[in-house]
Amino acid sequence: MKNLVYYLDKPNGSFRATEEEIGEPGPGEVRLRTLRTSVCQSDVVIYRQGLTRMKTWPAVILHEASCEVDAVGPGVRAFSTGALVGLGCDIPCGDPSCIYCGEEGTGDWTSCPNTQATGHEFPGFARKYAILPAWFVKLGPMVRFSSGISADEACHLEPLACTLEGLTRVNNCIENRVAVLIGSGSQGVYALQSCLAMGARKVILVNRGQERLQRVLRDFADPRVVGLPWTEDVRERVLVECKPFNEPHFVMVNASAEAAYRLAVSLLGYGTVLDAHAGVKGAGGKPRIAQEVDLNNDIHYKLQCYQATHGSSMRGISLARDMINEGKLPLLNRMTNPSERFPHTRILDAIDRAADPDSLKVIIDWERG
Ligand SMILES: [Zn+2]
Ligand SMILES: [Zn+2]
Repeated sequence: MKNLVYYLDKPNGSFRATEEEIGEPGPGEVRLRTLRTSVCQSDVVIYRQGLTRMKTWPAVILHEASCEVDAVGPGVRAFSTGALVGLGCDIPCGDPSCIYCGEEGTGDWTSCPNTQATGHEFPGFARKYAILPAWFVKLGPMVRFSSGISADEACHLEPLACTLEGLTRVNNCIENRVAVLIGSGSQGVYALQSCLAMGARKVILVNRGQERLQRVLRDFADPRVVGLPWTEDVRERVLVECKPFNEPHFVMVNASAEAAYRLAVSLLGYGTVLDAHAGVKGAGGKPRIAQEVDLNNDIHYKLQCYQATHGSSMRGISLARDMINEGKLPLLNRMTNPSERFPHTRILDAIDRAADPDSLKVIIDWERG
């Protein structure tokens, strides 16, 4: 049968629609039909400047995908034709004996030196059909959704999983607690919805751009949510909002900027957990952002916790699947407005839209062409 694959020739290049032959899945393999892909900020970066870890071009990019199982190869029992599935971006290295990714591994495949990612080294979902190899089907981040879940909701799986890794790496820091989220881009908005679903006492959202902050406060309004523009006195205003506590219990950096880290550490108080979730990377590489920590007074006596998450393992993917299946995030579809929906024939427009300062989640529809 015929497949349609969009190859990106080079960073900042163009997408070439190519018709290719695709066969039947072999033993252990699954053939997927792409339904939706959403656009990650990393796709914007890959499109504009490439990534050092991406060595071969042309490339098939896009990693946030929901798909229908189109055919299964001999021996596949976990998936059946017609099932709605979602996929993770970080994937096992493919070695069954790997201590991280293998059959007896820890599952922390983001720690594996040979880790790979969909839409990076491993071909992404800018294609109508994909055959996944047996090791991916067996060990990789592919999960089934319940009936009643839409393809739109399912394509939030991977970015939501990344957020949930951040909210759950340390226990007991969200439920009944005050959370500060710095940055109201898509990771911030997944975090906002997840904190509410996890029973946060209050969520304080800080963002520089007024347009996006207003959009989020309007569309995700809740008595427990407060939005603060990033003014000169934002630190004092956040601390006022934390009352009767003297400081937040959880601070998540979702803005890729040194200023976000500076603000975050200035908020740490008694028992605060900091999740350094957004890395800072510029043309000159990854800048050093130094911070002096008193291991005795701050860490031991004040119980502060510095931690970080990026990407997702099977644990985050499973948490995200459960949250979506259980309807815990009923407003997910509000992250995409009509100006953020594109047919697959307009991938480049979709990537450009995702780069806009007011954009939350751009979805590319593979059933519309
Ligand atoms: Zn992503
Ligand atoms: Zn491995």
